[in-house]
Amino acid sequence: MQYNTITEEHLLFRNALKAFLKAEVEPNIDQWETQREVPGDLWKKMGEMGFLGLNFPEKWGGSALDFWYAVIFAEEVSKMWSAGFAANFLVSQFMSSTYILHHGSQVLQEKYLPKTISGHYIASVGITEPGAGSDVAAIQTKATRVDDHWIVNGAKTFITNGYLAKYMVTACKTDAQNPASMSLIVIDLESEGVTRTKLDKMGWHASDTSEIGLNQVKVPIENLVGAEGKGFYYLMQGLQLERIIGAIMSYAACEKTMEYTLQYMKEREAFGKSISKIQVLRHRMAQLHAEVYSLKPFLYDTCNKQAQGISAVKEASMAKLLASELSEKVVHQCLQMFGGYGYMEEYKIARAYRDARVGTILAGSSEIMREIIAKMYIDEVNY
Ligand SMILES: Cc1cc2nc3c(=O)[nH]c(=O)nc-3n(C[C@H](O)[C@H](O)[C@H](O)COP(=O)(O)OP(=O)(O)OC[C@H]3O[C@@H](n4cnc5c(N)ncnc54)[C@H](O)[C@@H]3O)c2cc1C
Repeated sequence: MQYNTITEEHLLFRNALKAFLKAEVEPNIDQWETQREVPGDLWKKMGEMGFLGLNFPEKWGGSALDFWYAVIFAEEVSKMWSAGFAANFLVSQFMSSTYILHHGSQVLQEKYLPKTISGHYIASVGITEPGAGSDVAAIQTKATRVDDHWIVNGAKTFITNGYLAKYMVTACKTDAQNPASMSLIVIDLESEGVTRTKLDKMGWHASDTSEIGLNQVKVPIENLVGAEGKGFYYLMQGLQLERIIGAIMSYAACEKTMEYTLQYMKEREAFGKSISKIQVLRHRMAQLHAEVYSLKPFLYDTCNKQAQGISAVKEASMAKLLASELSEKVVHQCLQMFGGYGYMEEYKIARAYRDARVGTILAGSSEIMREIIAKMYIDEVNY
């Protein structure tokens, strides 16, 4: 399917990225899944290729490209049969350092962005806590101002890149008099008082997901992102992008899984014929194809809004909801086409099945997406 905002230059970029991924990532992905992380050298190679600062300004080493380059990047890294691999880079580039780009001071940008874009620093974002996930406003991590520092105490959990990241853009309560107010503070994860514990997950194996303890962590006052008390507002803006990227990840996985499954079906024989000729299986694939195919224009329309800087909270929530739920359906039904082989790790569909499951949980669960859509559609609330 073509989209009129994709130009020749975008296609050249896609081809260069695909060639890089084929040479540098594809041969190693199984090993990184087993090792449960991606090597630091790959971050630097991606940085050298200009893949880690697509929408960032040139003054910090970025490429200052339009949002469609980010869409293409998210699609291609999500087709490597390892959502964990994709998550590493998508979180660092589009869900963490972006807060510094959009709201951080010059000092903060200079301190963190060039090295993030070059792949020397990995970024993470710390919102979720052991006692507060969907209910972001209920976080308990506190930052208290003492002279020219913040002293941060609390805990974050399920943090993508948490173990390997240089820093975490951290949601904290900074005003004891106003418990509703929240701020974003960049915490250097090599600071004294920070503990990191890797979590063992069902899928996303090439991505590190960690619990972060924060005990009397001293953070320079300049590491406050934007204005004090505006953290919740910044997060709500940032989450639109996070959900669009999440939707692209899920959607790309649908496309890749369908392609892989069709190929298998054409080769596998049962009762003297290819299983792609068995009507019940054909109809199931036809149904999935119709659902996947018809979601793309809506997803791209939402990307278009993001590219134009248009607020699209409802559309981003709908895209994330539909793509992540469809992805679960696709991997579930496609795995069935493989019979017993689908249950074997040797076949990529097994990993895709494990990886897809988290799509309806993170970056706002399906239930939270429906809450947002219901408030905007039924109660006519504007975000
Ligand atoms: C692999 C992975 C990576 C992650 N990466 C990050 C990261 O980098 N940074 C970060 O900050 N977080 C991260 N998360 C956390 C993720 O965003 C949360 O898990 C998610 O927001 C849900 O929060 P929770 O797990 O606390 O579930 P809860 O909020 O406890 O929800 C439990 C269940 O109740 C439902 N529920 C809650 N409230 C409502 C409601 N009002 N109406 C209806 N249903 C409701 C939820 O949908 C869910 O089904 C990650 C999680 C995973 C699994």
